[in-house]
Amino acid sequence: MANLSIAFCRQLARARRAKGMTQSALADAVGCKQSALSMLEAGHAAKVAHETVEKIAALLEVPLETAAAAAPVPSCGPTAANTHAFCPHADCFSNVPYVVNGELLFWPRPQADGRAAAAHCAVCGELLERCCPHCGAPVVTAGACCPACGGERVANTLPPETDCEAWAAQRRRAIAEWRSLIL
Ligand SMILES: [Zn+2]
Ligand SMILES: [Zn+2]
Repeated sequence: MANLSIAFCRQLARARRAKGMTQSALADAVGCKQSALSMLEAGHAAKVAHETVEKIAALLEVPLETAAAAAPVPSCGPTAANTHAFCPHADCFSNVPYVVNGELLFWPRPQADGRAAAAHCAVCGELLERCCPHCGAPVVTAGACCPACGGERVANTLPPETDCEAWAAQRRRAIAEWRSLIL
């Protein structure tokens, strides 16, 4: 199952949250692993069988056709006023990981304050983002998720078998240590 759009995957995640279901509960209901569901919601559909996606979509009442009809994500561009630039890499020290309700979220540290033209991450060199990767809304608030669509700004791209709590705790220690060295 590799042909799902990120917008469709996000829609599944939003529909699940709207129903007040945890990833574990939904995974149990459709007979897949929570880690596979987590990957699917992050847009990595390759590990999930088509029948499982159908079951999830049916249970959440999300039409499957949405995947084909998904519009390309609009871009708000680097010139949008008052936007926070952030690094889209989960594996970058500028993004601080937290586990909230069993889900790994990344809190991007805004970059390029006072340097509106900066295009690349000061830490890893990745091209900076200034827009929500899901709905295209300009990022004007701090936080892990987009207030407009609820989508995570930085996608969790860790392997599904990762122990997120342990990884995030270790990662925050490493980030604190790194910051103490450069400041
Ligand atoms: Zn970076
Ligand atoms: Zn959004």
